Formats: sequence, C-alpha cells, structure tokens
Amino acid sequence: IDGFSSTGKSTLAKQLARYLGYVYVDTGAMYRAVTYFAMQNGYITADFFDKQTLINSLPFIKLHFEFNPQLGFAEMYLNDVNIEKEIRTIQVSNFVSLVAEVSEVRAKLVEQQQEMGKGKGIVMDGRDIGTVVFPKAELKVFMTASSETRAQRRYEELKEKGQEISFEEVLKNVEQR
Ligand code: C5P
Repeated sequence: IDGFSSTGKSTLAKQLARYLGYVYVDTGAMYRAVTYFAMQNGYITADFFDKQTLINSLPFIKLHFEFNPQLGFAEMYLNDVNIEKEIRTIQVSNFVSLVAEVSEVRAKLVEQQQEMGKGKGIVMDGRDIGTVVFPKAELKVFMTASSETRAQRRYEELKEKGQEISFEEVLKNVEQR
C-alpha cells in the first residue's frame, strides 16, 4: 500500500492484515525509529544534521517488530526497547523526511523489508513499497487525499495522544512531507 502521508495507508493496511490473517508491517515506523535514534544521539537537531555519523552508526541500529495482542498490531522496537510511543511525536515527524532521504538508510531498511516479505503473507505500507521494495507484489494500492483531509487525520491522531499542536502546524508538516 503506497501513497501520500496521512491518507490512511496504515489504517487500511492494519484492517486488511487482520481480515486476511496476514502480518502488517509499518515501514514508516522503521524510518521514524532511525530518526528517533539520530535525535537521541544528538545527530539531528533543528539546525544541524550529522548525516555521516548516522550512516556510520547504522550497524548499531537493530529494529524489530513485536506483535502486541492487546493492540492487535506489531510495535516498533529499537535495540530491544519499545519505542512505539516515542516515534509518533511531531518532532520525529518533522525530522523523518531528512533521515529518509539518506540513501544508506533506505538501503538498510529496504533490505530488511524485502527479507520480511520472503515468507509472503504480509501487508506493507509506505511510499516506495510498490515501486522499490516489492515491484512484483500480488496487489498494489495507491492512496491519495487533499492536504486538508490529510492534515485533519494527523491532527486528530495527535490530539488523541494528548499533543498540543495547531491544525496549521500539522498542515505545514503534511505539505512538507
Ligand atoms: O508513514 P509515516 O508517516 O509514519 O512515515 C514517516 C516518514 O517516513 C514518511 O513521511 C517518509 O518520509 C518516510 N518513509 C519513507 N518510505 C517508506 C515509509 C516512510 O521514506 N516506505
């Protein structure tokens, strides 16, 4: 499932996976996890991004998903720590596209995603899934919506998590991404 951010890719992917009894893989969470790692180590701040040190640190980033039966989906772990909540903040959202542009980061994550797909029976979402990760997927879906609709979705999601943010700020972030 491919498409623009905040169009409902993961909502659809999760429901589809549940319906089919497949495993849902949220690739955005993987890019968010690498971003969170970079933030934690001070490699990325509002006016600074030490790309090379992040690239050199890639071998020390271990990502895995673990299914949470209460939530009904798999949560993201960074070096064996559950970071599902930490990666959903607006700060991570603001930095993630910079990190996702780094080709070495993409190469590492795409390889891991392709590995997960070897056994089939997965639903994966993300902007390069149909083109780069699984060009021969059995089914490809592309999702789109207006910036306002996308911002509204993200805004409600952040509000629900108790984050103080204006609709305008979210709209700006969605348009940038
Ligand atoms: O899906 P989500 O909004 O959580 O993804 C976060 C960010 O990660 C996207 O805005 C995009 O910059 C990046 N991403 C990517 N390729 C993917 C999934 C996400 O570049 N397959």
